This record gives sequence, structure tokens and C-alpha cells, in this order.
Amino acid sequence: MTSKPSPPAQEKKRFQPFQVPPRLLFSPGPTPVPPSVLQAMTKTVLGHLDPVFLHCMDEIKAMLQIVFETANRVTFPVSGTGSAGMEAAVFNAVEAGDDIVVCPMGVFGERLLAIIERTPAHPVIVRGEWGEPIEVSKIEAALQSCRPRALALVHAETSTGVAQRLEGLAELAHKYDALLIVDTVASLSGQPVGVDENQIDICYSGSQKCIGAPPGLAPITFSERALERLRTRRTPVQSWYFDVTGIEKYWGQERTYHHTAPISMNYALHEALRLICEEGLEGRWARHELAHRALVAGLEAMNIQMLVTPEHRAVVVNAVCVPEGVDGARVRARLLEEHNLEVAGGLGQLRGKIWRVGLMGESSRREHLLRLLDALHQVLQAEGYACDSGLAAAEQVYAAS
Ligand SMILES: *Cc1c(COP(=O)(O)O)cnc(C)c1O
Repeated sequence: MTSKPSPPAQEKKRFQPFQVPPRLLFSPGPTPVPPSVLQAMTKTVLGHLDPVFLHCMDEIKAMLQIVFETANRVTFPVSGTGSAGMEAAVFNAVEAGDDIVVCPMGVFGERLLAIIERTPAHPVIVRGEWGEPIEVSKIEAALQSCRPRALALVHAETSTGVAQRLEGLAELAHKYDALLIVDTVASLSGQPVGVDENQIDICYSGSQKCIGAPPGLAPITFSERALERLRTRRTPVQSWYFDVTGIEKYWGQERTYHHTAPISMNYALHEALRLICEEGLEGRWARHELAHRALVAGLEAMNIQMLVTPEHRAVVVNAVCVPEGVDGARVRARLLEEHNLEVAGGLGQLRGKIWRVGLMGESSRREHLLRLLDALHQVLQAEGYACDSGLAAAEQVYAAS
């Protein structure tokens, strides 16, 4: 006879408040959250239709337009992480019978494909080598081979450290009457995206990467071309929650309830965006670029290679080859335990072969970068990998700037 397990005895259980160690995150998301952003989350939770909160929403929209570099009217944060942005983009762009060209070159491109495969639309796949961008001629061939309604790809592929060039993609997509969908979860505000300049029709991001808020919101923006496509759909958007027409009734003029906005997360996003606007996009891109160059110089001085050739490297996420004879997982564990620094490991076919260093938002500051290089040197020495320190080379990059 099997007896049903009884629920844990509640009155006897004592839980301590959760203790959080002072980690400094160099993973490609989440990233270190500035104190004022954390403080914003401790403010009184307002009602989701409180006029003061509505004002906060309006400012978030205005600041997102600045960060996306767009005049798009329909620009707001989807409630959910970056993956929610992915689903919102795909679901609103296509319906049954549509072809959609998708270009995976790593884990997140594959996720885009996995999402498309769950829709009634038909994916036309242009798969690239991991560690390289997708060849534009292959994209064009795929667009030509079908009746595409959208072209979807990732800007900075977080699993490989590759940046796909955005220039010219819209002309290509639009020539075949396809919307251009670009995943900028990793890159937005860390390196140029230029939604209007590059004529991206649907562009989404995530709050916890370069934007520097905690995970939980996915900024997204829709061009007029994308909205026109929405208006002429034959069928409703497959997801009620991610249907832009519904969400826009809350974020737009009507102000009708759709779902309860995550109030505190929106406070955090407001403050994170405010800090970005204060720094200025160009200054912020320059800071990220400099940290990236200093990291590469430091690693090269330590005789450590990058996975990606210089012209295809993303600035914000750096794929670093684990040197011969070094146990990559052990090094990461020691960085975390002995130095409170988090670096990510490789995903999928790159598991064990690379470290992924995110230089996103706060982590792309000089003092943090130098601390990472110093700690990495110490750990590698302790692990028996003899190398010079990368500090001088990194400092030189800063000195020359
Ligand atoms: C992190 C990331 C995602 C997924 O975001 P989540 O917040 O983890 O859901 C999607 N695309 C790219 C390029 C990313 O870096």
C-alpha cells in the first residue's frame, strides 16, 4: 500500500532571510545592476492605472525610442524576459501559411527557429557555422526560394560572440516583401543597433543585458510596415498575451487593462534607461568598445585566443578559447568562489571549449575589467598555466584612448 506524502510541517520550519554574496557578473546576462536601479525597485507599488504610473510608462516609451533610435509609436517593454520578446516578435509577424526565413548561427538563433517551429508558419532555414556570421548571399538565396513574410536573425549571438552586420539586410528583406526581425537582446545600448537607420521592422531586447536592469522585461518596437502587416492578418495572433494590438491598448492612448504590468520591474527599467540617457548612447557604445579592446589586448598578452576573427566579433559578448590543458569549468568555479566573479561557459557544441565574457552595461567599466584580468591571471597561475599578466596591455588600451 502506498501512502500519500504529507505536506512539510510548517510550524517547525525556520527559514533564514536569503543571503546574497557580492558577485560581480561578467556573464552575458544578467549583468551588474546599478544601486539606483535596485533602489527604484523598493518604491511603493502603485496601481497599474494610477496616473503617476501611467506617466512612468510614457517616459519609459520615450526613453526606449531613444535607445532603439526610432520614431516608432509602438514601442514598449513586453512583460517577460528576452525570450518573451522573441515570441512576441515572431507571433505578431507571421501566421499560418507564411514562410519565414530564419538564420541560426548559435543557440539563440536556434531558439528563434524553435519558436517558429511551434507556430503554424513555415521556417526556411539558413544555418551558419558557429563562430561566423551568416553570408548575405545565402540569405538572399533563401528569400528568393520562397514567399517570405519575414526574415529573422540575431544581431549579437551570445553563444558564439559573433555580430551579424545589420546594414543592407532591410533592403534585402523588403525587396522580397518580408519584415526584418532582429534580436538585439545582447547588444542594445552596448553597440549600435539603429532601428530606423537600418529599417528594422521588429526589434526586441532584454532588460538584463547591456541595459543593466534585472531580468524580467523585453523592450520591443514595431515599424509602420510591421503594424500594417498586423492590420491585414487573416487570423488572430496565436498568443493572447503577446498580441501587440492588445498590449498597445494599455501602453498606447486607450489605457485599458490588458495584464497587470510588473510595476517594480518598470521602475527599474525607467531608472536604467534614465542612466543610459544621462550617459548618452554614443558615450556608452564607446565605453563598451574600449572595454572590449582592453579585454582582447589583455587576453592576447596572456597568450589566450579569441574564437571569432576580429571583424566579426561582437563587442558585448566575448568568446574566449580555453587554453590547451586548462580545465575551463574549474577556472570559472575558482573565479566565482575565490574572487566573486562570474564568467559564463560555452553552450551547445562550444561547451568546455570557450568562456563567454559579457562586457555589458556596468561590467564594461575599466576598474571591473582590470579586476577580472587580474583574477583570471591568478587563477590560471594556480591552475598551472604559466602566462604574463594582461593588466599592462589592457591599461595601455585605456591610456591610448
Ligand atoms: C539572453 C538572450 C536571449 C534570451 O533572453 P532571456 O532573457 O534569457 O529569455 C535571446 N537572445 C539573445 C541574443 C540573448 O543574448
